[in-house]
Amino acid sequence: MSKKTYFSNLKCRECGRLYEKEAIHICEFDFGPLEAAYDYDAIREVLTRKLIESRPQTMWRYRELLPIDGEPTVGAQVGFTPLVKADRLAKALGIRELWIKNDTVNYPTLSFKDRVVSVALSRARELGFEVVACASTGNLANSVAANAANAGLKSYVLIPSNLEQGKVLGSLVYGTNVIGIKGPYDQVNRLCSEIAGKYGWGFVNVNLRPYYAEGSKTMGFEIAEQLGWKLPRHTVVCMASGSLLTKIHKAYKEFINLGLVEKSEFTIHGAQASGCSPISTAFKRGTDMVKPVQDPQTIVKSLAIGTPADGYYAIHSMRETGGSAEDCTDDEVVDGIKLLAETTGIFAETAGGVTVACTRKLIESGKIPRDESAVLCITGHGLKTQEAIIGKVGEPRIIGASLREFEALVADEVTLKS
Ligand SMILES: *Cc1c(COP(=O)(O)O)cnc(C)c1O
Ligand SMILES: [Zn+2]
Repeated sequence: MSKKTYFSNLKCRECGRLYEKEAIHICEFDFGPLEAAYDYDAIREVLTRKLIESRPQTMWRYRELLPIDGEPTVGAQVGFTPLVKADRLAKALGIRELWIKNDTVNYPTLSFKDRVVSVALSRARELGFEVVACASTGNLANSVAANAANAGLKSYVLIPSNLEQGKVLGSLVYGTNVIGIKGPYDQVNRLCSEIAGKYGWGFVNVNLRPYYAEGSKTMGFEIAEQLGWKLPRHTVVCMASGSLLTKIHKAYKEFINLGLVEKSEFTIHGAQASGCSPISTAFKRGTDMVKPVQDPQTIVKSLAIGTPADGYYAIHSMRETGGSAEDCTDDEVVDGIKLLAETTGIFAETAGGVTVACTRKLIESGKIPRDESAVLCITGHGLKTQEAIIGKVGEPRIIGASLREFEALVADEVTLKS
């Protein structure tokens, strides 16, 4: 890997003012979000498909496009999850070609959040933080806890107190400090902003947010590389704060700009659960004014952010690429989880059910034409949200350990080998 960093500044998304690469996330002049900026001309000189392909299969093969100064010290194994061709799902949904970007098997905590955390914590160490923390709907907490444990950093994770057991245990096991807040995610997040200012901790999605957010680009980079250095015609992304969607958009644009892929038409669609769909609702209304959802009511807790920080930008990414937003009910989420599992062998969490269910609607409404191709971003593992499907996928049929009972059970289902 090249030693030099190409990460030059933080830059306000609104006014373009440049800032030093510190633990700050908001422009002092207009409160615009700060984003990592790079020396693209220098990157163009060094970064080739061949160089990337020669590197280990992790998200750090795109090192020049990530916002740290030295080598990654946290999460060196994260990313490069499978891109799976899903012919049986394509047939079920009535479309020519579908691919699943399978972040249910991301390392080490089975969600796409390992991408953002490895960047945020690598940067946190460069900036000298000894305590790291986050406001989370579950997956981020799991990943901060695990990666901080491995790095020997002290961590605090703050979550709504009503999360799924798998998400709670999936943080506690690492010995982190788990704090459950009585109230929805927005209140957790507001509290974290206060704590970050007062205690000087590195909150991965508050004061370290510009670094954290860039990690999501690697999902887009990998999709393009795994398709043979081509952009997918359609990409469907589920949205919580909307950050992942905007960063996949940024990733595709960076690859075009650097000549790593040819310029081609691409469209990005966003998906939410109807019980908390501030971004899709604003999009469907034709506005970019995202109205907060005060009291999210959905089984899709990982996406239940009522005041999405990047909602405005996600709407612009969808519009700019000709995309659409959809939302789906909790029953449709469960159907989506089951359909994905039954046709691909991939067990996704509720957020994945949202992506599948909304993709179905986008195909049925013609927003994704049936003769085209789409990539579905499946962002977390189903073992973490088992509550959502308990009692909805049948029960084992229980018998005694006797051949007679077995044969009585399957008599109508199978024929004997003669
Ligand atoms: C965090 C998360 C997302 C997307 O989050 P954004 O805030 O929109 O970047 C998607 N799926 C899962 C499972 C998540 O945990
Ligand atoms: Zn600004």
